[in-house]
Amino acid sequence: MKRAIKEGKTPKSPYIQKPYLVSCYGFKINGMLLSIPIGNRKYINIILNHHTQQILSDKSFKVKSFVITPDSISLGIQKEVEEIKCDNTIGIDRNLRNVTVGNHEKVIMYDMEDLPKITYRTKKITSSFKRNDHRIRQKIYSKLGNRRARRIKQFLNRISKDIVSKARESNSIIILKDIKGIRKLYRKGNGQGNKHRGMMNSWPFYELQRQIQYKSAWEGIPIRFVSPVRTSILCPICGNRTRKDAEQHRQVWCSSCKRMMDRDVVAAMNISYKGLQRFCNPSCDASEAMKGNLRMPVILRVDASKLGLKA
Ligand SMILES: [Zn+2]
Repeated sequence: MKRAIKEGKTPKSPYIQKPYLVSCYGFKINGMLLSIPIGNRKYINIILNHHTQQILSDKSFKVKSFVITPDSISLGIQKEVEEIKCDNTIGIDRNLRNVTVGNHEKVIMYDMEDLPKITYRTKKITSSFKRNDHRIRQKIYSKLGNRRARRIKQFLNRISKDIVSKARESNSIIILKDIKGIRKLYRKGNGQGNKHRGMMNSWPFYELQRQIQYKSAWEGIPIRFVSPVRTSILCPICGNRTRKDAEQHRQVWCSSCKRMMDRDVVAAMNISYKGLQRFCNPSCDASEAMKGNLRMPVILRVDASKLGLKA
């Protein structure tokens, strides 16, 4: 049994100095009222709106805390979630250009070209700032930084939501690469340029992982981690080592299957295999079982910036 906690709407930025009250003690929900004790057995009652009442009518939700700001009330709700039993896996490969999600049947590539642009624009504005006044500069930088963080969050929200809903539809465990220590690869003195390091370190690897984790916890979808070793090198179909293509960047060539494959698709498939082998049927060798499957998956490309706008 796992506990999932979902936070409601919280104040947009902690840097905006609005008075707000956070508490998790003594309050009660009485039907349509939120009663907060103020001492001497007196209570302040706040009427909850119809939407909130409707959600709270589901008895599996428990209200654990609340936040009051001058223009909003947020309730933190909790529910007990049973982990779903899955018989399939989907692997997720994250890199600068895209997020690739899938298994041997279907692979979806979420195009992330717009994400570096958000960071780039903020950088351009902050570097064009000429006046040498640290108070004003700090104010503007923090404002722009917050805006950038919000935009990136929104962007990743669409992708993580889609990934979790796909995992639910196909009844799959979500398999992620364990990329602990990735920032250590791009530190000063590692022989990389400033620009390259800046680009690699501004990629929000953990933000996407965090969003996928809390969203799948809410749905009861299991998440597991596998080691990233050799995931983008081995051929997902025959298991032999592939070669990088000299002309086409991000393509690999398998000499025994005689086919060219996209490196990110290969990585997502291998991650999904690793997970299948380890978490779904640890007793039998999944790589043996896979050998009969000599097809490449259906590959779908999705522009992440347009995700969710169709509906
Ligand atoms: Zn091969």
